[in-house]
Amino acid sequence: MVESEVIVVGSGAGGGTVAFELASRGFQVLLIEEGERVSAGESRRAYSPLSSSVEVLRAKCLGGSALLSLGNMVADEGMLSKIRGLGVDLSAELLRVKELMCVTETPMEKLPPFAVKFFRVAEYMGLKPKVMPKSILHELCIGCGECAYGCRRNAKRTSLDLILRAEAMGLKVTTGLRAVKASRSCGDSRILVEGEVRGGRTLLSCKALVLAAGALETPSLLAQLHDDENVGRGLFVDPFVTLGGPYNGETSRLGVQMAVYADLDGYMISPHYSGLLLPQLAAKGVRAHEGNIASLMVKVADEGGGRILPSGAVVTRMSERDVEALNNGIGRARELLVEMGVKEKDIAVTPVRGAHPGGTAAIGRVVDRDLTINGCDGVFVADASLIPPPLGKPPIMLIMALALKAAKRIEEYLRR
Ligand SMILES: Cc1cc2nc3c(=O)[nH]c(=O)nc-3n(C[C@H](O)[C@H](O)[C@H](O)COP(=O)(O)OP(=O)(O)OC[C@H]3O[C@@H](n4cnc5c(N)ncnc54)[C@H](O)[C@@H]3O)c2cc1C
Repeated sequence: MVESEVIVVGSGAGGGTVAFELASRGFQVLLIEEGERVSAGESRRAYSPLSSSVEVLRAKCLGGSALLSLGNMVADEGMLSKIRGLGVDLSAELLRVKELMCVTETPMEKLPPFAVKFFRVAEYMGLKPKVMPKSILHELCIGCGECAYGCRRNAKRTSLDLILRAEAMGLKVTTGLRAVKASRSCGDSRILVEGEVRGGRTLLSCKALVLAAGALETPSLLAQLHDDENVGRGLFVDPFVTLGGPYNGETSRLGVQMAVYADLDGYMISPHYSGLLLPQLAAKGVRAHEGNIASLMVKVADEGGGRILPSGAVVTRMSERDVEALNNGIGRARELLVEMGVKEKDIAVTPVRGAHPGGTAAIGRVVDRDLTINGCDGVFVADASLIPPPLGKPPIMLIMALALKAAKRIEEYLRR
């Protein structure tokens, strides 16, 4: 049996951060990850989308979905007041994340020409656009526009950077190991984790277990240790589409994606190219290519009507209100595209997908405001499961700040 003071299951934005923080405080930490170790530039290999009524995009690899992220790092007043309303103050943790992830606003001169065009048109239409804070080292970025396939130049700071730093401080990492069972050991307070690794089984034991397998997978493990019907409920995915068409102007395919955005009523709109657009346009009989496309993402804050079933199956669900918000956003994005010079009849829309699964062990429903779980000593959650719906914004900044907060609670627990 492998023993460790702390075991962290899952190495994404949440798991990577909590493992980094505890290792840097001198605790003995084992981070287990189902996926493999890939470099930032190879992370497209780790795509592991989950098919459901709304397809959910994610990655399974060391560092998790953050490796595919566009580097957006948002913590605006709307998000923060919601978390404060739950009795959680993240001010100190957010400052630390900002520093660890080198979060800055893209300088105006580094904004892609298409983003600048969007910004001007959105401003003219009274939509009060903003520049997106990013965890991107702009001096390394070559503006290839392929952030979502991993960064070939390693210009994007992610959870993987924290894990690599923590390994130098003694963090132990095992990849290719999937946690399948969690239980309490009889006779002492240790927690047991059974894992599958390359066709075999392994047994691990720890004093503190941190579940950070992502909002789609944490609930199945938590439910084995904590009997609460709310575990797995409240799944949101922030559904989005990309729409666009050909025009006579700068392409949206190149440059940092989502470099600017407009935050509107229940949805956001931001410059974004999707490889799914050209086939959609071709199906409509519209001739377009990567060099002459104008395209925007519309993302909504869904109400969290999805669920992880006790079997582990994932059910995504958009309410009537979510669908209405998405249609409103698509309507507004069409107006923006037409104002930019795209012909209304030439606009195609991709299928709805989600990339921000969260809400399935939310603070205030499953986890207490101090990030402990009532009646479930030694077990902690540190991923997007903690965020109650709705969100509708890039969640990594919030997930990392919550993971730092969870690390404090775990430290208190271990020192008791
Ligand atoms: C294409 C794309 C772009 C995005 N862009 C942004 C962005 O710019 N900004 C932003 O804020 N957000 C972005 N997101 C969303 C963001 O990446 C996720 O919300 C965030 O990374 C989730 O972190 P997490 O720790 O909750 O889970 P994850 O990152 O999903 O990590 C969970 C990890 O646990 C592992 N795991 C699962 N089950 C087990 C198990 N049983 N045993 C062991 N390991 C397990 C998984 O393999 C995975 O590596 C994007 C997402 C995608 C897909």
